[in-house]
Formats: sequence, C-alpha cells, structure tokens
Amino acid sequence: VATVAVYSDADRHAPHVVQADEAVLLGDAAPSASYLNIDKLIAAARQTGAEALHPGYGFLSENPVFAERVAAGGLVFIGPGAEAMRRLGDKVAARNLARQAGVPTVPGMDAPEADENRLAAAAERIGYPVLIKASAGGGGKGMRVVERPQALPEAARLAASEAQSAFGDGRIFLEKYLPRPRHVEIQVLGDHHGSVIYLGERECSIQRRHQKIVEESPSPALDAALRRRMGEAAVRLAKAAGYTNAGTVEFLLDESGDFYFLEVNTRLQVEHPVTEMVTGLDLVRLQLNIAAGQPLGIAQSDVAPRGHAIECRIYAEDPAAGFIPSPGRILLAEAPAGPGIRYDHAVVSGMEVPVHYDPLLGKLIAFAETREACIARMKRALAECVVLGVRTPIEYLIDVLSHSAFEQGKTHTHFLGEHFAAWRPDAASDTAAAVGYLLETAHGVSAPSGAARTDQTAEFSPWRRLGRWDLAEG
Ligand code: ADP
Repeated sequence: VATVAVYSDADRHAPHVVQADEAVLLGDAAPSASYLNIDKLIAAARQTGAEALHPGYGFLSENPVFAERVAAGGLVFIGPGAEAMRRLGDKVAARNLARQAGVPTVPGMDAPEADENRLAAAAERIGYPVLIKASAGGGGKGMRVVERPQALPEAARLAASEAQSAFGDGRIFLEKYLPRPRHVEIQVLGDHHGSVIYLGERECSIQRRHQKIVEESPSPALDAALRRRMGEAAVRLAKAAGYTNAGTVEFLLDESGDFYFLEVNTRLQVEHPVTEMVTGLDLVRLQLNIAAGQPLGIAQSDVAPRGHAIECRIYAEDPAAGFIPSPGRILLAEAPAGPGIRYDHAVVSGMEVPVHYDPLLGKLIAFAETREACIARMKRALAECVVLGVRTPIEYLIDVLSHSAFEQGKTHTHFLGEHFAAWRPDAASDTAAAVGYLLETAHGVSAPSGAARTDQTAEFSPWRRLGRWDLAEG
C-alpha cells in the first residue's frame, strides 16, 4: 500500500516524511494549523489521490467529526464508525453502556455534574478518596485525586477548567479512586460482517502522571480463566457499541482479581506492538483489511499468543525532574538491534525534537520465550539504545526493569511513585562515560552533563582512552 505522510513545519526533517512514498506539508507547527486542521488533512488526501486515511494515535484519531468529514470527502476512515466513537468516546456514556452490557465499572457517577453540593453528596456516597475525571478526558488531563471533602470544590473547579481548555468540554464526574490497581487492557478487533474477537491483554501499570511508560503482554496477573472473562467482557462491550476495526477496552484489576471497566480507546494504541509480538499478527494490516470491507479471517480459537513481549517508551523527558519534557537537538541516535528486538522510532542524529507535540521519540519492544528472558533482552537493548542531546528515561527504564518487584511481576499503577520517586541518574555509570567518550571523539561535541565522565570513571571504567590505559597498565 503506497503511503502519503503529512507533516508540519516543525517536522520537516522527521523520519516519517522521508519514509513515506509522498509527503504533504500541512502548515505551521501549531497543531491547529497542521495536524488538527481537518480541512488541510482532507485536502492533502484528495490532492494525492489517497483512498483511505489512517488517523494514527493522537490528534484527531478519536474525533467522530473528523471520521465523518473523512467519509464525506469520499475517503475510507481506517477506524471505527463515528457512531461507535460517540458512544464510547465520552467516558460517562461509555461507563453506562458497559454496565448495560454486563461489564463491571469502577463505582462512580453515571452523569457529569457541575453543582458543588451534588458533587459532594456523590463523593460521600462513593467514599473518599475519589478521582475527578473529565467526561471528554484523555492523556490524564482534567484528572485529580481528592482525599478529603474540604479539597473537593477547588479540585473540581481546576479539573473542569483544565478539561475545558484541553477538550473544549468542561464536564466532569467522580469515580472511586482504587488503591494500587493494575491497568490491564484488552485488544479487540471487529469487522463489518459481525465478527468481534479479542487478542489477549496488555498490562500497562508502570505509569508516571497516570500515563504509561512500560507495557507488556501477557500480564503476570492473569490466568487463562481471568483472561477469558476479561476478553469476553471487552467483546460484549464492543458488540453493544457496534464497534468495528481495532480498539482497546481498558480495565483496572484489583488485588482480589476483580476488574472494572475504565474506558475504550477507539483507535490503535501506542503499545499495540506487544500484542503483535505475542500473537504474530500485524494489527495495522488487519486494520486496512477491515476498512476495505474484508472479513476478519481469524476466529477467536485461532488466537494463540506465545512468549512474552515488553515495550518501553522513550520520551524526550527528564525522569529526575518530574518527567518534564526535554526538547532540543538530537546529537547522536543509535538504534539497538538483535534477535527479538523491534524499535519503532522517529529519531535521527541532528534532528530537533519539537516543543509543540508530545515528546515520544520511540518505542523499544523486546520479545522472548519467557518473561525473565524478555526482561534480560530488553535491558540489553536499552543499554544499546543511544539518544544524546536531550534527556531520556533510558537509564531509568533499565533500573525499573532491574527492580526485584518488577522482576516478580508485582506491578501496580503506583509502582514508580513507590519505588522510584527519589531516582537520580548515576553520573559515574559506564554508559554515561562511554557515550561521553563517543560524542567527543566521533562527533567532536562535548558531552551533555548527564553523560559527563568523572575522574572516577576515567580511572576505573573499561572505556578509558586507550592512550592512558596503555601507559598505566602496559
Ligand atoms: P486518560 O484517558 O486521561 O488516560 P484513564 O481513565 O485511561 O485516563 O486513566 C489513566 C490512568 O489513571 C489509569 O491507568 C490508572 O492508573 C489511573 N486511574 C484511572 N481511574 C482510576 C480509578 N478509578 N482509580 C485508580 N486509578 C485510576
């Protein structure tokens, strides 16, 4: 299938522009002038004679108006229908539909509420702590934990205004805030001939700011019976919504093995590669086939995941400073490789990481026959993954995967807060010394401070300059 990429001014040198068969400049860096501009997107599709449009993960990918406009423009939208998106895109509407389909939901409200007194009454009924959420929510925006009644009015006002500015929709509701749940989600696929299947689960409990950074499949917490119950619940909801194409039904799983519906993402997920690795299926190819009207061609009984896959997200962000974005120029990027390693990335030496968008640079995926082997393989690949010039969580991720609680599969959504709140990079690590050396010698630039060599590493590391090593040790 020939591809046309779209890009903004800020992404002129982004790898996807070079990789696609054709590329169309949408406009300025600001999303409203480029990736969020429906007219420009449809014009680009028409101008190049595209037959279908894949909406990706972010921006307009879950926008039913966009799906309708694409269809009205004579193009096939590669995703669910606008109606299914509307039924599931609103968190409150999706909760209500889930309950009707016999899928358990987190205790909470079944309508958005603006009135302070009614919110307070609902919070008393649900029981503190409660979580304020935006009906239109996503990306953790408009989400606030409230521990006690006195904090509710102010938190509700802030959440509503944050939701209003992020989504143009300030409606909020309350859910019970579950202590230490796991985030477990089910991948579903539906065709236009009435078939809906599930492709197993992904566990995405390793999160900062309620957003995923490590994902894996299968979840260490599921056995075959629970997997089937969660999978069948997800399929019931997808069928109730008239869902087609790829989607993800998200759940929270508590320590007693009870699961609660959270929300549906009506698009492909960033973490879909772990499902691809364990099922051997190409989800994007299946998305294209479904959009072209073909039957799924896979029955539930054909889905037989094997092995273990983990994905680590590599962002331009600083894990030692609250994960604030770290945009800037990439001085050097080297991709890890080897058996069972996949690196889906958009980073090349010399490029600028724009300040305008989510700073995700790449996704590193490891696959192996067991979870233990997969962790080992991932750590080796992370150690080989070079991204210099901006801060990244690469060292942090190695430490997370090395933690005994992670090794034992004792993961939950507060894992990073509990074990890694005080994490700092090891300035004297061999990796830091090695990359500093590499930068100076091969590329003639001085190392960023995180990669600076110290006297200690100069003395003891195997990466000492050869000359000095010769002198000292013959
Ligand atoms: P968003 O769409 O903004 O990403 P989600 O509803 O998907 O929000 O929730 C994101 C994360 O927030 C979850 O994976 C979980 O860690 C946390 N979370 C959401 N709802 C609850 C809840 N009721 N109790 C505890 N944690 C929650």
